[in-house]
Amino acid sequence: MTMNGQRVIGVLGGMSWESSAEYYRLANELVRERLGGLHSARVALVSVDFADVERLQVTGQWDEAGQLLAEAAKGLEAAGADLLLLCTNTMHKVADHVQRAVGIPLLHLADVTAEVVTRAGLGTVGLLGTALTMEQDFYRSRLADHGLRVLVPPADDRVHVHRIIYDELCLGVVREESRHVYREVIHRLVQAGAEGVILGCTEIELLVSAADSPVPVFPTTRLHVEAAVAQSLAP
Ligand code: GLU
Repeated sequence: MTMNGQRVIGVLGGMSWESSAEYYRLANELVRERLGGLHSARVALVSVDFADVERLQVTGQWDEAGQLLAEAAKGLEAAGADLLLLCTNTMHKVADHVQRAVGIPLLHLADVTAEVVTRAGLGTVGLLGTALTMEQDFYRSRLADHGLRVLVPPADDRVHVHRIIYDELCLGVVREESRHVYREVIHRLVQAGAEGVILGCTEIELLVSAADSPVPVFPTTRLHVEAAVAQSLAP
């Protein structure tokens, strides 16, 4: 519930914790910017074991994955969260399952991102993320519902983009060679017509930033937190 005008942001994290730590840091920084002084964000956090989630992804056990995250979301609601952030693009595959389990609103990452891309006046956007996010429909179609045309990298590039997420970024490893790979993939997306690039995995902004792209980038962790803080502080 609100206290000092702030609603509690429910952070469902651990996927991976490398990006959840960014959620926590950014939420606190943004609240300090907005309210000044010693103000910090009102946050409830539940963090799952990513190894469990990754195993369910690989075996395609989506009901079980949805149930695991739904239970975590219920814990956040019980802890007083007023709104819910599922801190991974990929697991939005089960966003409906999670939303059904709670009475608080889930801020869908694809909606938040699409709104910012649209406000920037762009119509065609490149999407980087895990193989599931780039190849399946749950995320792309949600972006398309906002009128966006979504381009993904060719198969070879998708393999590298995916591998770097799981084998490096989710383990806290940030390598210059991998940044170079991402830069090249972004360039090919731009050549194919992308007017902007969605960093559609919450760890990618640990590796690349606006400086690595000739077109605007849309870092989903930051955008998600900005939307959450705006809702948390709304009158
Ligand atoms: N954090 C990542 C994402 O935003 C990938 C980890 C996961 O598979 O949940 O998609």
